[in-house]
Amino acid sequence: MGRFKGKLVVISGPSGVGKTTIVREVLRRTGAEYSVSATTRPPRAGEVDGRDYRFVSEDAFRRMVAAGEMLEWAEVFSRLYGTPAGPVQEALAEGKTVILDIDVQGGLQVHRKMPGASYVLMTPPDEATLASRLKGRGSESPEVVAARLAQARKELDAARASGVYNHEVVNDNLEAAMRQVVAIVKQESTEQ
Ligand code: 5GP
Repeated sequence: MGRFKGKLVVISGPSGVGKTTIVREVLRRTGAEYSVSATTRPPRAGEVDGRDYRFVSEDAFRRMVAAGEMLEWAEVFSRLYGTPAGPVQEALAEGKTVILDIDVQGGLQVHRKMPGASYVLMTPPDEATLASRLKGRGSESPEVVAARLAQARKELDAARASGVYNHEVVNDNLEAAMRQVVAIVKQESTEQ
């Protein structure tokens, strides 16, 4: 996909690290385009189909994979998530900067196809902070919180071991973290 004019920024990091908040604000500040993923998980309160995710059945998801329509896909917490390739390719062809908010398994798949993209790993300041943020959401049971913490540890280890993520942003202070990601996105957009 190297022929495209636009830039791709892949943002990964464990659940509870503040990715969604940061990505939303970074989109507002940079005008970059968000890649809307397909998922088989049900919508949460306030989520809008087509804006936050394309909420699809497992059958529909598997058909998209079989038809070669996914740039990458992965199973996360027993649900399927994937990036439809078409919209990403179109935006890049138009010279836009595209942001993907995907997990590390997905980030590594994208890297195989697009090694020149920018890879940002969002990390919590420490595990205790991540644990309290996950609990603070209030919507998850203790078992789910424990599973997400274990998954976070695995995900961070895998990301660091891969060497794919060329930027690491610690979400200690929300505004500072946002500014760092904005700077990365702007730098990507101006590099030729
Ligand atoms: P959530 O269900 O909390 O919205 O997302 C759970 C995890 O799935 C997050 O780490 C998020 O980055 C990841 N995710 C969302 N969309 C995709 C996707 O299209 N592909 C992959 N591989 N991961 C995704």
